[in-house]
Amino acid sequence: MGIFKRQTSFINGKFLPSSSKRNVVTTSYPATGEILCELEEANLEDIAYAVESAEKGFRIWSKMKGAERGRILLRAAHLLRERVNSLAEIEVYDTGKPISEAVSVDIPSAAEAIEYFAGLASSLHGDHFDLGKSFVYTRREPIGICAGIGAWNYPLQIASWKAAPALACGNAMIFKPSELTPLTALKLGEIFTEAGVPDGVFNVLVGGREVGKELVRHKKISKISITGSVPSGKAIMAEGAATLKKITLELGGKSPLIIFDDAKLDSAVSASLLANFYTQGEVCSNGTRVFVHESVQKAFLEKLLSRTRNLKIGDPMDLSTHVGSLISREHLEKVMRYVKLGKEEGAKLLCGGEIPSWEEKEARFRKGAFIEPTVFSECDDKMTIVKEEIFGPVMSVLSFKNEEEVIERANDTEFGLSAGVFTQDITRAHRVIAEMQAGTCWINNYNITPIEAPFGGYKYSGIGRENSLAAIEHYTQLKSVYVEMGEVDCPYP
Ligand code: NAD
Repeated sequence: MGIFKRQTSFINGKFLPSSSKRNVVTTSYPATGEILCELEEANLEDIAYAVESAEKGFRIWSKMKGAERGRILLRAAHLLRERVNSLAEIEVYDTGKPISEAVSVDIPSAAEAIEYFAGLASSLHGDHFDLGKSFVYTRREPIGICAGIGAWNYPLQIASWKAAPALACGNAMIFKPSELTPLTALKLGEIFTEAGVPDGVFNVLVGGREVGKELVRHKKISKISITGSVPSGKAIMAEGAATLKKITLELGGKSPLIIFDDAKLDSAVSASLLANFYTQGEVCSNGTRVFVHESVQKAFLEKLLSRTRNLKIGDPMDLSTHVGSLISREHLEKVMRYVKLGKEEGAKLLCGGEIPSWEEKEARFRKGAFIEPTVFSECDDKMTIVKEEIFGPVMSVLSFKNEEEVIERANDTEFGLSAGVFTQDITRAHRVIAEMQAGTCWINNYNITPIEAPFGGYKYSGIGRENSLAAIEHYTQLKSVYVEMGEVDCPYP
């Protein structure tokens, strides 16, 4: 039943045979509500099998030379690039995002992460400390079995951002994609195996938060990296305490984008559109609080509105579509509630906020989860739409008078994932960014996440970093070895 065949977990280099002992759930294509596939959720037996095979895989993989691991990972990245179109199509079916994004960002950025860490695999090293005669050296060793838990907005990218450093450092990984979007992570499992990753080194468990919880509780799993919401991050940290898990949390945000009066306005408008409407606004680092200096607000809004109205909302599989479907009807209802709250609390709705009316030839999208890109102005800091993460295409435009004021207001949130500043004044740009309580910042651009740069949050937006050399710290442990070259100096007779 569905567009794709029934899916099972990928363990020890193979898909599990179907079994009546597992709970079966279905996923759907968000744009039309059609059944996408049936999923057999991993049960306790499957989780035990995944851990057992990860242990075996780890013993082989961790003993291989970094260069050898790197070579295999590069082959996997190559396969991803070769299959970009078919993987992008699957990603669109799972998420409802426009295929132009999946082809140009989702799949290539997954490949890029694997290439980057494949390159680093051969240069992982420790240090040497000379103590005169004796010395100390350090070894950077893998942690063991790591679990990755993914969100639904960038399924393959998230799986790759976690798998690439984990595997490059010699760990095994058990990955649990979001229950809503499991298909490309399963494909990644197949691709790793095809590229030569030993069986058990990368397993994919299909299922919901119960499967995630089992991974967090498991004694043989040493590390958890989750991309998800703040409440899930808190729950995982609390649950993981019992087994002292090493933890990376990539959580939500409500980030500020500050546009000063000397900003290049067209670029600032482009960035505001990208920071709110890319992937229908379902991006953790989005700059959803757009602070615009009062003297340029009118000009900014004119440009913004004319470009927002030009965005093409529609068939996610059409390359010319800019805005696809939200992940589900349930999520659509949540976003619509925020739009209603925005109006009730006094923000001015300038455009969007409605479910599109589909012509007869596009009637199939009536069962989808589409909402028009939405812009509110005259927002104030206390409004619910300005304080809470909506995770949909809803932009709040706020006005400010001076630098000191906007810094304070931008930081007045429990989140701290990202921040952006637009100004031509180089001194002000660096001064303001230095004050931002956020882990990932941009000057005169927004939402660019090169693999070379650490990515992660301050405050409630997370703990630890993904990407870059910083990720190596989170997927290895350091062993110090003292080497005595003389006699043991002992005070005892
Ligand atoms: P979610 O927190 O509901 O679920 C994320 C994953 O965690 C899912 O796989 C889910 O099954 C699992 N999970 C939930 N509770 C769990 C628990 N107690 N124990 C173990 N596993 C558990 O998030 P979502 O709705 O899938 O994604 C949207 C959220 O993710 C947003 O808040 C968004 O900002 C955030 N996000 C953050 C980043 C980042 O890099 N910082 C990137 C993408 C999305």
